[in-house]
Amino acid sequence: MLIVMEHNAAEHDIRAVVAQIEAQGYKAESIPGGDRVAIGVLGNTGYVDETPFRGMAGVREFIHVTKPYKLVSRDFHPEDTIVEVGGVKIGWNQPPVMIAGPCAIESREQLQEASRVVKEAGASILRGGAFKPRTGPHSFQGLGYEGVKILSEMSKEVGLPSVTEVMRIDQLEMVAKYSDCLQIGARNMQNFDLLKEAAKIDKPILLKRGMSATLEEFLAAAEYLLAGGNPNVILCERGIRTFERALRNTLDLSVIPYLKKVTHLPVIVDPSHAIGVRDIIPHLVKAAIVVGAAGVMVEVHPKPACALCDGPQSLNPEGFIKMMRELKILQIALDTGEEG
Ligand code: PEP
Ligand code: MN
Repeated sequence: MLIVMEHNAAEHDIRAVVAQIEAQGYKAESIPGGDRVAIGVLGNTGYVDETPFRGMAGVREFIHVTKPYKLVSRDFHPEDTIVEVGGVKIGWNQPPVMIAGPCAIESREQLQEASRVVKEAGASILRGGAFKPRTGPHSFQGLGYEGVKILSEMSKEVGLPSVTEVMRIDQLEMVAKYSDCLQIGARNMQNFDLLKEAAKIDKPILLKRGMSATLEEFLAAAEYLLAGGNPNVILCERGIRTFERALRNTLDLSVIPYLKKVTHLPVIVDPSHAIGVRDIIPHLVKAAIVVGAAGVMVEVHPKPACALCDGPQSLNPEGFIKMMRELKILQIALDTGEEG
């Protein structure tokens, strides 16, 4: 880290910063500039916490050289990580996976219908929420443990591995027993206690980007999982909050090629939560695949008009089948393009 001093910083301010650096166990080196001094922090083996230096007299800004993550980065681990979810491989340069299913598990019948549709149309993993993080307390909160069991039953019935969200530490053990992959949602991306405990679980984790998280924060959250012992992490871009209100969120697909350079962990895209509007979603699914996403996740409901959660963004069976047909054509075009 470099600590940049104000141009009028006094000699004793600089000395105080140097003393604080040394008190933290590092070495300090002053780099005199034209009109200001920068002090380099040397001897660190990981990220340097700027907190002890914040508010010190004469300090202008901090420039971090070491990132708050290491294990997730390509510098540390150059080869792609391939995560297996119930036998389905997810990784950069693997065929893109399709994860599909309803936002929430509402009943056995609803999930059975959705599971059959997505399986038949060619999805490789079944999704469905049992513990639902809803904005308001009066909305349907999910079927909880009963929902997890229904998901497990349907996953076996149609022969697709499953993914479902956990919101609390005490849900981890049971969900890990019944599901092939545990999702940590956007709202819990920085629930560090949950991340630390999920790191100890012997199942892959699908970590979604927080709606206002920077990519550095996203990767640092994934670092908790790897640092705690779970190397099987899939990242999911699901749209972020910007000034734009026309759609539910803003889907920044440029993160896909960027993250491919920075991390060995696979990154998938969830256009359903990013966009919130059914008929736009297939376009973004295709775009995500073209920019190299390791997979996509979409919400599919047998009767979106009756959905208890996220109906307007859920594809109906016809829409999903049509999209899957178009994706096959796209994949052939991409494969042919690569060979040509
Ligand atoms: C979900 O996938 O069901 C969900 C709630 O998504 P997010 O955490 O991205 O809002
Ligand atoms: Mn949803």
